[in-house]
Amino acid sequence: METVDDHLEPSFILGPETSRPRKIAVVGGTHGNERGGVWVVEDLLGRPQDWQVPGLEVIGLLANPLAIQRNLRYLDRDLNRCFGPQLLHSRPDHEVWERRRALEIFEILGGGADRPDLVIDLHNTTANMGLTWILTSLDPWPLYLAAKAQESDPRVRILHTPESAQSNVFLPSLGSHEITLEIGPVPHGTHSHWAWLAARDQTRQALHRLASASDDFSPSQALQEMRFEFYQTLSVESYPLDVNGKPCALIHQEAQGRDYQPFAEGMALFVDPSRETTIPHRGPPMVPVFLGEAAYVESGIAFHATRRLHWTGTRGEPC
Ligand SMILES: [Zn+2]
Repeated sequence: METVDDHLEPSFILGPETSRPRKIAVVGGTHGNERGGVWVVEDLLGRPQDWQVPGLEVIGLLANPLAIQRNLRYLDRDLNRCFGPQLLHSRPDHEVWERRRALEIFEILGGGADRPDLVIDLHNTTANMGLTWILTSLDPWPLYLAAKAQESDPRVRILHTPESAQSNVFLPSLGSHEITLEIGPVPHGTHSHWAWLAARDQTRQALHRLASASDDFSPSQALQEMRFEFYQTLSVESYPLDVNGKPCALIHQEAQGRDYQPFAEGMALFVDPSRETTIPHRGPPMVPVFLGEAAYVESGIAFHATRRLHWTGTRGEPC
């Protein structure tokens, strides 16, 4: 079990405030078979006038065009693990396509000097994630936007997955602020009406909320008046393994789709099909997300364990 606490102490405190983000990159197709974001960005690129928002510079990027063309998550390597410190491995002549592409994206998005103020990266899941806003820190602007989104749409969940500069290898780290949207359940590689609408509307509403904020608006102050629930990632959990290190269990049918629902000790989590025995959850209560996610099967990841927190105005406290 890899525990988030192993490499950093999760912070529950609001981060420092910056000026309002103005240059926004909307990214789709970081995973080529997650089509909702691809449709959104193609719309943005094809009809930029419809996406113009006063006071903002909105740019669209299809991150992995070769993977989109082939309707695959990636060709050689997960592009969304090629940033942060991993970018040092990129070279223009690297044999791995995603390593080359990561460097191109770094340059397209301003090469660090002219980086976007905010990157919104649009993803889909087969897991029942609803409309999940993933934040890698309690950064006031993204947290404020996420909280407002949750206020106006009960399907929205806020998931704080703390990352350090070392562990943040994700594309949105190219922005000064970062948001990843995970929308599901959607079968990967399919054109889903609701998932496209959700990605488009969440993105547009976030842009309009940013544009309507006055120059002296403080998201930290606004957050002081807000109360909401969010989740914090505690650990990444693998499928049970046999003696050869091969996964030997399935997600139990009673557990499937129960993302964001609390699991108490003893509740059915996996089933061992060779003996048809139930493998229950052991340990303190936890809330799973990415439960049975198809994209994580190749890594042997069964779910991420989280806990529910309550936003008190200045910090998160366990419920
Ligand atoms: Zn993805």
